[in-house]
Amino acid sequence: MAEQKKYEVIVIGGGPGGYAAAFMAADLGLKTALVDPEENPGGVCLYRGCIPSKALLHIVKLKQEALEAADFGLSFKAPEINVKKIREWKNSVVQKLVGGLGQLSSKRKVEHIRGMATFKDAHTLEVNHENKKQEVSFAHAIIASGSEPVSLPDIEFSKNIMSSAFALDLPEVPKSLLVVGAGYIGLEIGSVYAGLGSKVSVVEMTNQIMPGADRDLVDVFAKRNKELFEEIMLETKVAGITGKRKLKVKLEGKHEGEQSFDKVLIAVGRKPRTKNLGLDNTKVEIDDQGFIQVNAQRQTAEDHIYAIGDVTGEPMLAHKASHEGKVAAEAIAGNKTAYEPKAIPAVVFTDPEIAWCGLTETEAKAQDIPVKVAKFPWAASGRAATLGISDGLTKLLIDPKTERILGVGIVGKHAGDLIPEAVLAVEMAAVAKDLSLTIHPHPTLSETLMEAAESLYGQATHIYRPQRKK
Ligand code: FAD
Ligand code: NAD
Repeated sequence: MAEQKKYEVIVIGGGPGGYAAAFMAADLGLKTALVDPEENPGGVCLYRGCIPSKALLHIVKLKQEALEAADFGLSFKAPEINVKKIREWKNSVVQKLVGGLGQLSSKRKVEHIRGMATFKDAHTLEVNHENKKQEVSFAHAIIASGSEPVSLPDIEFSKNIMSSAFALDLPEVPKSLLVVGAGYIGLEIGSVYAGLGSKVSVVEMTNQIMPGADRDLVDVFAKRNKELFEEIMLETKVAGITGKRKLKVKLEGKHEGEQSFDKVLIAVGRKPRTKNLGLDNTKVEIDDQGFIQVNAQRQTAEDHIYAIGDVTGEPMLAHKASHEGKVAAEAIAGNKTAYEPKAIPAVVFTDPEIAWCGLTETEAKAQDIPVKVAKFPWAASGRAATLGISDGLTKLLIDPKTERILGVGIVGKHAGDLIPEAVLAVEMAAVAKDLSLTIHPHPTLSETLMEAAESLYGQATHIYRPQRKK
């Protein structure tokens, strides 16, 4: 029998958490292996999530901008949509990126073991790939097995009742589509299909779309996209789906009744992927939702086994997973480190983009945290005007006593590229004056952050607000 391979670090799962952890462990000089079923690292984010969805969103944004350019005197012919070519381009983007990760992995001498791993005991994994089994042992393991979509009770995913992964394959553009859940996936993939020509309706059980974001930010999105979606049905749930060719969807709540659709996309959240990991053969603990329990170093109840990314809980975001991965690798290498972010940016890559970090106004109200809200409407931004837009908003949540910036929300074009300055401000405990006194380049959308801070003092250059007499 071949000698069992032994690694200082073995990472289970090749998503943005897993590959960031494996690369960092290798960079720190540890003998590292990465176990994942795919040929190259990438995980959900690259193969079935962030990257394919953003590639498709780019296409529909281009189409929209080309249509809107007619208002500026630049007219194009009606766009021709070649779904096969779009699918091929999107797949080529994915392949380019995962191929690059494969190369980075081998350059760092991270051994890629293809297959699905199961703990046999607290120091041994069994890896299964195409009916072949091998055992590997390790000094430290990092679990980064990610998450998977949840469906609705008694409703199974199929080619007509799609998960996000299936929808991103872009098998076809159906005439009508019902999106269940107006969260990240519902809004992003709903925008893609609507942009490609489907009649898209959305059903959401709460009383607003994107319930995690502040309502004033979401309102800007809703107003701009009134025409894009057929109907957005709030405070409504799907009670059942019948029929095969045409799906009959029973709705309950505010929009009770039955409606027919060609396809349904279920986007009501994701659950941790711990099934078949063999955690029972270790002391690793999970909570009642199935998330693996970890400390600030991302260590589980089994000291030498760490866990990172979606499998450890919300927010289920790629950048949070990568950051945790680096913390875990540093901790294993014996470096002083901890996962203690003050702000994790959230970005919905729709048109307009919605981005926020730190405290939201909704959270401040719910938790009775006193805040001053300083806003800068993009109607007063020169850069926004040159882009032909006027409906964005930048707002800061500020501690009234210390003037520290506690949170930031932005809605508008490129909001996702603007939010990192806000994340840095929150992380570095910046006060509003720091932002207002920092020279921002003109004309850019970044000035909206500076002017929002200036507006706290009634001194935003491009807004006139008469001072109250003292
Ligand atoms: P994953 O990326 O889920 O990777 C886990 C990997 O582990 C997978 O490859 C899986 O096959 C493998 N695996 C599982 N079990 C085993 C096992 N037993 N043995 C070996 N391998 C195993 N986040 C953002 O930040 N920005 C976005 O724009 C964004 N867009 C998204 C769009 C969609 C449609 C979806 C679904 C998600 C999106 N996300 C986005 C979320 C993001 O994809 C996840 O937060 C991120 O992928 C989590 O990374 P991870 O490393 O924890 O796990
Ligand atoms: P989500 O949590 O963002 O949204 C789910 C939505 O479905 C919520 O608004 C919820 O109120 C609603 N909902 C739940 N049950 C329902 C029901 N029975 N009927 C109607 N509505 C219902 O989840 P998601 O959109 O599935 O995305 C999963 C995760 O993937 C996200 O939480 C996020 O972490 C990640 N993601 C991130 C990005 C990004 O960063 N741009 C993009 C896509 C996905």
